[in-house]
Amino acid sequence: MKKQFAVIGLGRFGGSICKSLVSEGMDVLAIDQDEDKVNEFAPIVTEAVIADSTDEKALRSLGVRNFDHVIVAIGDNILASILTTLILEEMNVKHITVKAQNDYHEKVLSRLGADEIVHPERDIGIRIAHNVVSKNVLDY
Ligand code: ATP
Repeated sequence: MKKQFAVIGLGRFGGSICKSLVSEGMDVLAIDQDEDKVNEFAPIVTEAVIADSTDEKALRSLGVRNFDHVIVAIGDNILASILTTLILEEMNVKHITVKAQNDYHEKVLSRLGADEIVHPERDIGIRIAHNVVSKNVLDY
């Protein structure tokens, strides 16, 4: 059976995750409070819905608790990211991945029990620095 993913927040990070999951043949429910974002992703994903993920009732009515994996891709609004993660944890969602904006955010997410915390800007910076150094070493 196809795995079912929900992606909350359709910025550059969440949007790129949605596109990659779809290209891997997964079912994707995309959620954002911004109507324009939802309209942009509606033709790409399985279903796109306008909702505020800090509204527990809205998440329940979308059946988010039954998804295999929920990705919280809200960056700037740290409070919304934390509240959303808390609601998902209380719903016993199987697997929750959350994008962290900074180390404090990461610490709170980890306390809340997020299964996976990603820090894309930091991680890519580390990888690029590593690649640049290895390339320079090879060049000498
Ligand atoms: P990125 O770094 O991925 O490009 P961004 O800077 O474009 O992100 P963010 O502020 O991280 O934007 O938010 C990502 C998306 O999350 C936005 O499209 C925003 O509308 C959405 N979002 C923020 N809060 C909520 C919420 N409570 N419910 C649903 N969507 C939300």
